[in-house]
Amino acid sequence: MENCIFCKIVNKEIASEILYEDDELIAFYDINPMAPVHILLVTKKHVANISDLSDDDHALACRVLFAAKELAKKFNLDESGFRLALNNNADGGQEVFHLHAHILGGKKLGKMC
Ligand code: AMP
Ligand code: ZN
Repeated sequence: MENCIFCKIVNKEIASEILYEDDELIAFYDINPMAPVHILLVTKKHVANISDLSDDDHALACRVLFAAKELAKKFNLDESGFRLALNNNADGGQEVFHLHAHILGGKKLGKMC
C-alpha cells in the first residue's frame, strides 16, 4: 500500500531494527515507546485493522498471538507480564492503519484507559 509507513518498513524501504520476522509478520521497536519494552508486531500483508480482516485471515490472526508469545519470551516478559494491544479506528486510538499489535512490558502497566 502506497504511503503506508508500515508497508515501507515491511518492504525494507525504511530501515528498522528487526526483532522478529517470518513469512507473514515482522516486529520492531515502537519509535515512541510507552513502556521500557514497546514492540510493534506487524502483518506483512496490508490489512487496515481487525475490522478489515477477511475470512482468509484466521491463520494470520492466530499467528499474531503466537508470535507475541515468542517475543514476550525473548524479551523476558512472559513471567513478569505484558500487554498485547490492538488499537482499532478512531475511538480505539489507531494512528497507523496497517494491522499491528503493541507488546508492552518491562514495568507494571497502568489501567487500560
Ligand atoms: P496506533 O495508535 O496503534 O496506530 O500506533 C501506531 C504506533 O506506531 C505508535 O505507537 C507510533 O509511535 C508508532 N510508529 C509510527 N511510525 C513508526 C516508525 N516509523 N517506526 C516505529 N514505530 C512507529
Ligand atoms: Zn501498510
